[in-house]
Amino acid sequence: MSGIACRAQHRREAAKSMFPRALPKGPSVAQKNSKTRAPRKDGTKGDPNRQKGESLTAQERARHPRTKNKSPIKTVRQPGALKKAIRKLRDSNNRIALVPTMGALHDGHLALVKRALREADRTVVSIFVNPGQFGQNEDLATYPRDEEEDLKALKALGVDLVWAPTSDVMYPPGFATQIIPEGAATGLESDFRPHFFQGVATVVLKLFNQVAPDIAVFGEKDYQQLCVIRQLVRDLDLDIEILAEPTIREKDGLAMSSRNAYLSKQQRALAPVLHQTLREYANDLETRSDTAAMRTKARLQLLEAGFDKVDYVEARDAKTLGPFNRGENAPGRVLAAAWIKSTRLIDNVPIKAKRAARSR
Ligand code: AMP
Repeated sequence: MSGIACRAQHRREAAKSMFPRALPKGPSVAQKNSKTRAPRKDGTKGDPNRQKGESLTAQERARHPRTKNKSPIKTVRQPGALKKAIRKLRDSNNRIALVPTMGALHDGHLALVKRALREADRTVVSIFVNPGQFGQNEDLATYPRDEEEDLKALKALGVDLVWAPTSDVMYPPGFATQIIPEGAATGLESDFRPHFFQGVATVVLKLFNQVAPDIAVFGEKDYQQLCVIRQLVRDLDLDIEILAEPTIREKDGLAMSSRNAYLSKQQRALAPVLHQTLREYANDLETRSDTAAMRTKARLQLLEAGFDKVDYVEARDAKTLGPFNRGENAPGRVLAAAWIKSTRLIDNVPIKAKRAARSR
């Protein structure tokens, strides 16, 4: 389906829902803005120098004791239960971190959870496969789901609460309000998945209103999404600190993703070429300005290796996602989306600062 047809269909579906119902009652953004951010109870701060994956300090562990009992992790599925549980977690000014996910958790997700555990007094993980961000012909029905394993992994890390609403809870009959982000949401993914960031921004704002976190952690794996969420928080004056974690990769460089499960053995062997190609393109950009020839070379490299289609391979300004200008020595990012048969892979890598500038 073309982008335009897809957007029109999406609008028709949204228009079917005529009567918006109030969002589940939780502290509103305005209420949250009036709250002063509480310092940690034990007075510690997250250590920015700590390496990724390093285990928690004794003090941090004490805030998130791993329970040895066999009872399942506390999981709530209704707004009322969530509100009650959040009130309890907030206790005397605990700082709460939220990690939004669509489940089928892997080490990439768990790195975000570990960061949340380090940074906040209480950690909430949401698991919700959001229909709002899938297009008509996309993989909503087949998206990997394994709640039992997810809950075990989150319990083992010491997560305090899992928010796992159903679609009916998130989008009850009459739901008819959407956030439509522009700016960082323009181009790249939006050229191929026009519905996507509208769905993401809407669900993330709902999750923020429901959980009212002080901190939310997102992955650089979905780099444009991260930029869109930072923009959402800035533009709508949300009192939430957005933290980003680097992409966790397999040994051969393939970015971990729930969708990697779709790949056959042969396709899996091809998949790391995406990261290799992006690295080469980014290396070239360390010393040279971006050119159409460099983009074409990267695209051809993917197709010649065996990728079936390349949606985009582009260098962008790392902050604004506007055009990348080597001359200004601003940080850049190379982003790509490409298909192996019916599996769409996305990835991105940083463009390091100019060599000459670095040695100054
Ligand atoms: P998802 O479940 O795909 O919606 O992802 C939930 C969060 O996990 C998002 O903030 C993603 O960017 C992040 N994430 C997914 N894969 C990775 C990865 N390989 N490394 C780091 N973060 C990731």
